[in-house]
Amino acid sequence: MRQLIAGNWKMHGLSADAVALARAVRDGAGGVDADLLVCPPFLHIPAVAAALAGGPEGSTVALGAQDCHQAAQGAHTGDVSAPMLVDAGVTHVILGHSERRQNHHEIDEVVREKTEAALRCGLAPIVCVGETDAQRNAGQETEVVGWQLAGSLPQGFADPRKDGLSCAVAYEPVWAIGTGRTPTLEEVATMHAFIREELVRQFGAAGHGIRILYGGSVKPANAKELLAVPHVGGALVGGASLKAEDFLAIARAARDLGDEVRTPGPWG
Ligand code: PEP
Repeated sequence: MRQLIAGNWKMHGLSADAVALARAVRDGAGGVDADLLVCPPFLHIPAVAAALAGGPEGSTVALGAQDCHQAAQGAHTGDVSAPMLVDAGVTHVILGHSERRQNHHEIDEVVREKTEAALRCGLAPIVCVGETDAQRNAGQETEVVGWQLAGSLPQGFADPRKDGLSCAVAYEPVWAIGTGRTPTLEEVATMHAFIREELVRQFGAAGHGIRILYGGSVKPANAKELLAVPHVGGALVGGASLKAEDFLAIARAARDLGDEVRTPGPWG
């Protein structure tokens, strides 16, 4: 399995900026040995879908969203449902990002419901977990991440999927997001090994088939060393994904995961 390099564009850019960025990523993706994903703001999804579809042969960049509602439809002003995303050509969705957890008070239970909603309609969720600065300083980082994993990942998260899309967990220490600070490679290794153990504890052998992305101030200068850490299955990139050349440079640092992430056996 290849590493997954996912760009979270957050609430940046107007439609024309999104189209230009999508085209630049698409055109530069040809020789990259990684799975690529871009996650524009909701409103730009149709324009980005069209831009990605017009790419040269061999350039496949997947399209993701940054959130979805847990209900398929209903009286939820301002929200977007998972089936609506599928209808617009989206294949992946970021859920439980720390900015959603903090700014929209999303607790683990809500993240789990959203993840279930995504799985129900065939979207591949990327579920974010990570501790705050205060929690790490108090030595609580593994405890916090363990609770988030137990509370946010529903049964069936690790099931093999007929469409070949794979779910992922993103470890994003909150204090590293958008700050330029990153954990040491040892800290990343320790946390990713812990998350792998938890996934196997929760899902059995299928837990080996889940990519664990690292996110938090990934840039071209540190991508190679971060992506080389055992159990790092790719990167979730914020700021650096807004420049195609930086995003592609990060993707060029990706490696094949070999046996580290084992796709679960044939589905029944
Ligand atoms: C993010 O918000 O998911 C993220 C990783 O941001 P940045 O790369 O800017 O730290």
